[in-house]
Amino acid sequence: MKRKRLDYDRLSFQMEMLNDVNLEISDILISWYFKNKRDLPWRNSTDPYIIWISEVILQQTRVAQGMDYFLRFTGRFPDVTALAEAEEDEILKYWQGLGYYSRARNLHAAAKYIVKYCDAIFPDQYKDVLALKGIGEYTAAAIVSFAWNQPYPVVDGNVFRVLSRLFALQTPIDTGKGKKEFTKIAEWLMNPARAGLHNQAIMEFGALHCVPKSPDCNNCPLQEKCMGYASGSPQSFPVKQNKLKTRDRYFHYFHIIHDGKTWLNRRSGKDIWQGLYEFPLIETEVPTDLSGLQQLNGFQNLFADAGCLSISVELSDLKHILSHQKIYATFYKVEVGHRPAYLDRFTEISLESVQDYAVSRLTDIYLGR
Ligand code: SF4
Repeated sequence: MKRKRLDYDRLSFQMEMLNDVNLEISDILISWYFKNKRDLPWRNSTDPYIIWISEVILQQTRVAQGMDYFLRFTGRFPDVTALAEAEEDEILKYWQGLGYYSRARNLHAAAKYIVKYCDAIFPDQYKDVLALKGIGEYTAAAIVSFAWNQPYPVVDGNVFRVLSRLFALQTPIDTGKGKKEFTKIAEWLMNPARAGLHNQAIMEFGALHCVPKSPDCNNCPLQEKCMGYASGSPQSFPVKQNKLKTRDRYFHYFHIIHDGKTWLNRRSGKDIWQGLYEFPLIETEVPTDLSGLQQLNGFQNLFADAGCLSISVELSDLKHILSHQKIYATFYKVEVGHRPAYLDRFTEISLESVQDYAVSRLTDIYLGR
């Protein structure tokens, strides 16, 4: 049933006039949380290290997929010292398949910093947590509120959605203005005495109940207070300004074989998958088949003095979508008559040992066929 829109227009509603409404909403969210929360291994911990690892894993990963990674990662690196002392290659191997590998490298760098400058004790002040590598406002707020009940609001995708619907907010969430406004509202809504619980409750409510496509408004304890519901189209919130522009990239990998050996490249620079291994690669900006590749300098350099080539396409048109780019990959297996000198710049390994290296998701798919 369509209900009359409440008479406060978006942000101009007077927070101070609402007085206890915020506490009431917060109490409703918390009692919903007690009844409905998922039993997750990091949920009952107040150890900032455990909270940190779980939050970083869950940033770009669904809970179902992240759970195994979390258990394996914290099993191998149970505290900040264990993480700081590990080799980067091993950490990346534990991260393999989760994507966004800079997260793992940042965890490592921050752990080393904590061990070196904080006597291996996780900082308990918001500004010090925020200063750690790879930790943004959201993660810092999650850590200090879950671990020490400090009143910093978390504002993740779930919280944006719940707030935008509750108050029918029209400000686009993907703008600086939107971020500021939503953070202010999240702060106002939070009961500071129950900050950690409140933050967990609103995140879980967004993840399970007020979901993007079909929020369960009919069974919602906040229905009476929800302006998005009153508007008749809660799904139209949150409002976004821009669609992400994506870039298409075409990766052509060469699994080169000679004398029981193959070659891997370790990615460096500021691009994706930094520090991970993959087969020698030629990238093009448009789709290119083998005869097109053979015209390129990259191909001619790679296989100069290789003698007779036996080339087969092993996997083609493998699509991998990242937040700002779509990658289309083709894997070629190439047996060479002679070992090309150009391969000196890569890591030479035995064919069997490829599995020991931390590789990107695409290479993992190719190897696991
Ligand atoms: S009434 Fe619907 S839109 Fe509003 S908070 Fe509840 S589930 Fe979300």
